[in-house]
Amino acid sequence: MTDIDGQSPVALVTGGASGIGAGTVHLLADHGMRVISTDVATEQGQDVADAAGARFVHHDVSDQAAWAEVADVVRQHYGRLDVLVNNAGIVGSNPIGEFDLEAWQRTIGVNLTGTALGCHSAIELMTQNPEGPTGAIVNIASTTSLAGTPGDVGYVASKGGVRSLTRSVAVYCSRRGLNIRCNSVIPGAVDTGIIQAAAEHRPGLRDHLDSIALLGRMGTPNDIAKAVLYLATDQSSFVTGSELLVDGGAFAVHPGY
Ligand code: NAD
Repeated sequence: MTDIDGQSPVALVTGGASGIGAGTVHLLADHGMRVISTDVATEQGQDVADAAGARFVHHDVSDQAAWAEVADVVRQHYGRLDVLVNNAGIVGSNPIGEFDLEAWQRTIGVNLTGTALGCHSAIELMTQNPEGPTGAIVNIASTTSLAGTPGDVGYVASKGGVRSLTRSVAVYCSRRGLNIRCNSVIPGAVDTGIIQAAAEHRPGLRDHLDSIALLGRMGTPNDIAKAVLYLATDQSSFVTGSELLVDGGAFAVHPGY
């Protein structure tokens, strides 16, 4: 990992208490970054952070005031930000035919508004880095934004929004002369709490998700964290406004076959 004036880069990961976020907290810390992990799940978040040697901050990504508090922690303890991973996400809105406005707003609020607030906050912090505006933002989308699904319309719309937002953040940073890259990772099915919850209502779901990937299995949090690591570091120095599909090859298959 490239040192900045002898110190390791500072990375903020939202939703770091479990699943892909926890995997990312561990992998970035293992690669020498100073990691701040945030989540609404305080106890679990603190346990993961302790195990990874990271700092935990309680934080609801859908709350703009909470982002200001996290930014204060970053300024006070580190004086810089190099990487933001907008990972926090929820499922749970309804199919379009049973539209539930509250559930829609909750899902959009965490997944899309939370990602936008994160990008805004990160650009502000990265712009204040002592050597000038530099950094990398990685947003977690989903393959549910690539093809239609019958349910959870708020989730799929939020993830489509995350992909559009990512490109526009990259363009904004370039036009303003900020050396801040912004990319998204598009995970396929990853074996985390989200899938476990869905599998309770859909018997056979896990076997199905294993079978649709060309690699014969669902992803692990570490599979996704490795893609995040690439986009968060100089290894991806010429990549911005882009998307990295990490789905075990599931979307490489023509639907007719
Ligand atoms: P997960 O439920 O294990 O992790 C999500 C984390 O986000 C949890 O720790 C949760 O407490 C936290 N969180 C929820 N609301 C929050 C809020 N308002 N503020 C801060 N933290 C909050 O699920 P996961 O599968 O690890 O999901 C991580 C990301 O990956 C999500 O954005 C999800 O949409 C995306 N994703 C997951 C899959 C998959 O198959 N698991 C596939 C594609 C994309």
